[in-house]
Amino acid sequence: MKKRLFLSAPHMSGNELKYIEKVFESNYIAPLGEYVNRFEESIKGYTGVSNALAVSSGTAALHLALRVLGIEKGDDVLASTFTFIGSVNAILYQGANPVFIDSDEASWNLSPKLLEAYMQRCEKKPKALILTHLYGMSADIEKIAQLCRQHNIYLIEDAAESLGATFNGRHTGTFGDFGVYSFNGNKILTTSGGGMLVTPNKAWRDKALFYATQAKEPFLHYEHTEYGYNYRMSNVLAAIGVAQMEVIEERVAKKRQIFEWYKKHLNNVGEIRFMPELPQSRGNRWLTALTFERTNYMTIVDTLETINVESRPLWKPMHLQPLFKDAKAIVDGTSEQLFAKGLCVASSTTMTEEDVRMICDTIKENLE
Ligand SMILES: *Cc1c(COP(=O)(O)O)cnc(C)c1O
Repeated sequence: MKKRLFLSAPHMSGNELKYIEKVFESNYIAPLGEYVNRFEESIKGYTGVSNALAVSSGTAALHLALRVLGIEKGDDVLASTFTFIGSVNAILYQGANPVFIDSDEASWNLSPKLLEAYMQRCEKKPKALILTHLYGMSADIEKIAQLCRQHNIYLIEDAAESLGATFNGRHTGTFGDFGVYSFNGNKILTTSGGGMLVTPNKAWRDKALFYATQAKEPFLHYEHTEYGYNYRMSNVLAAIGVAQMEVIEERVAKKRQIFEWYKKHLNNVGEIRFMPELPQSRGNRWLTALTFERTNYMTIVDTLETINVESRPLWKPMHLQPLFKDAKAIVDGTSEQLFAKGLCVASSTTMTEEDVRMICDTIKENLE
């Protein structure tokens, strides 16, 4: 059997084991230690954000953001409907109510128009927005950040998939009150599992650290006036993160190259459209995403599976999930249409042009 081509397989830089060995030599296996600091420093240096906190997952980082901002039971929190469930689970952890906003055609990400229209007419004012930069492509973030400031709602950017993506030269994740990156196994970089919370506000970073480490008051005997979580990242995993950060720009370049190969080898297929990239932005093209006007994409998924190539439908919008059947949603059919027609294709950075050409040939042979 041919080696499987995954959507986005882990891709080591070569220094990971060396750094893990250093961790073992120091015996700082347990949480904290030098590599946690170094990992936070490398994210700060790369994205330009002033405060970073390494945690156990992207989901944990989102939860900490909501907790620090004081989101609580009964609050409304706006969120992109076209996203992965990890974006919005933390809203439920806080007992708050998600209010989903649809995408627009220009970005496939949250529509600033729908957001503005809702903010002008809503009776209950939302406390925050969790905005996803889907598939590593920047949303119309300047406009969205401006609307959040104007209406006085907190902005949390879910940049779990978009490390390395920029808008007007500024990194996604650094426009809001908080930004979140994920280092789960399939993301552009991985620590096997992990996340990073970033913020321009040092006091918020300190508060997030407090909640992430069981809300210990500064006494030797363990004093508690609030409850917290065990969300900190281990030094062993941070060592992997430091090695991965050394190749972030290479990975972005390769993901973008893979996208260009798909575009080249599918360019004569009229019914295919690719996820757009806003003109002021640079996406990381984490997964190449496309839609078919006529062909049922399940035919393509099944055929690719026979040659051991992974592909998947686009994320099913949150407002269509049974879990959220009673949630408020401001939608106009855009993400529902994308979900009906769209597919993510194998985009691992270890792939060659020959791999992409073979996948494209298979797609072309199976069009309806
Ligand atoms: C992966 C992902 C998350 C969750 O990150 P974890 O590190 O897996 O908890 C959240 N939002 C989006 C959009 C994601 O893709």
